[in-house]
Amino acid sequence: MKAAFYTEHGSYENIKIGILPDPQIDENEVLVRVKAFSLNHLDIWVMEGMYPAEIPMPHIFGSDAAGVVEKVGKCVKHVKPGDKVIVYPGISCGVCEKCLSGQDNLCNQYFLLGVLNNGVSAEYVKVPGINVFKIPDDLSFEEAASIGITYTTMWHSLVTRSNVKAGDVVLIHGGGSGVGTAGIQIAKMFGATVITTVGDDWKVEKARQIGADYIVNYKNLDFVDAVKQITEGKMCDIVIDHIGKETFQGSIECAKRGGSVVTFGATTGGEATIILRKIFGKNLRIHGVYMGTKGEVAHYLQFFPNPLKPVIDSVFELDNVQEAYKKLLSRQFFGKIVVKI
Ligand SMILES: [Zn+2]
Repeated sequence: MKAAFYTEHGSYENIKIGILPDPQIDENEVLVRVKAFSLNHLDIWVMEGMYPAEIPMPHIFGSDAAGVVEKVGKCVKHVKPGDKVIVYPGISCGVCEKCLSGQDNLCNQYFLLGVLNNGVSAEYVKVPGINVFKIPDDLSFEEAASIGITYTTMWHSLVTRSNVKAGDVVLIHGGGSGVGTAGIQIAKMFGATVITTVGDDWKVEKARQIGADYIVNYKNLDFVDAVKQITEGKMCDIVIDHIGKETFQGSIECAKRGGSVVTFGATTGGEATIILRKIFGKNLRIHGVYMGTKGEVAHYLQFFPNPLKPVIDSVFELDNVQEAYKKLLSRQFFGKIVVKI
């Protein structure tokens, strides 16, 4: 099969296009003909060797995809060849206490497709049968490929962990990112008021179009001051911080007493200075989030394509996959960057 892969850690410029063997499935697995995959920052960390585990080489990368079922193992009954499916990347053992109680992202063996095994940047990918979900009606492969990591992480952060509700004020950093766009839609769906940040003026109107109530260009205005002004000093019920080092202390300042601050991603670095007094002094809850559960996916998929609908920035051909990663690193995008195969 045709695949994009790399044979050593380093920049996206190491990515090669070539022919690798087709995956062989066992009786519990599904073979999917990949039609589209979307990019995540995780792909870059794995590519650059920042992920704290040995990555098998040559490595087919990428975690989020959508495509058509090509073949199913004999124990897989919920999909059949020809079905259009989302390839959901969260893989767990399936038999431990956490898995059996529906908390598969707390499984000791939990990992994401495309990290410790071959991912989705190829014509075919194999996954456990329980990792494919039928694509909701009226979603393209490109849109369906953009759901997995972003909507699961944001649903788990806002709904499951922070209990978002009507009237809440939610700050979501990076409104133009994949998680940012997903988070704005989910928070609005629950009737919250959304404040978001962007780093470019051209993103302001786009953030407004997907429902953000207040958009702050953090390059022109300190976001903590902006949140104080917007909320008249009341601050936020929930703050979603996937930026990390550059913003985390500010995020704590932006939370009101008893509020929640969620951390994941940490795209600017994971070592932040934190003033503990501000955490206990305000009775804050700090939530670390790594994905969510398959049960949450099965639940939130019913809200596509309305009110939830992935925002696609751009679509690249597989042969131009290096350009796609270059764009991801440039931050000059709004929504998800997708590669079609
Ligand atoms: Zn398990």
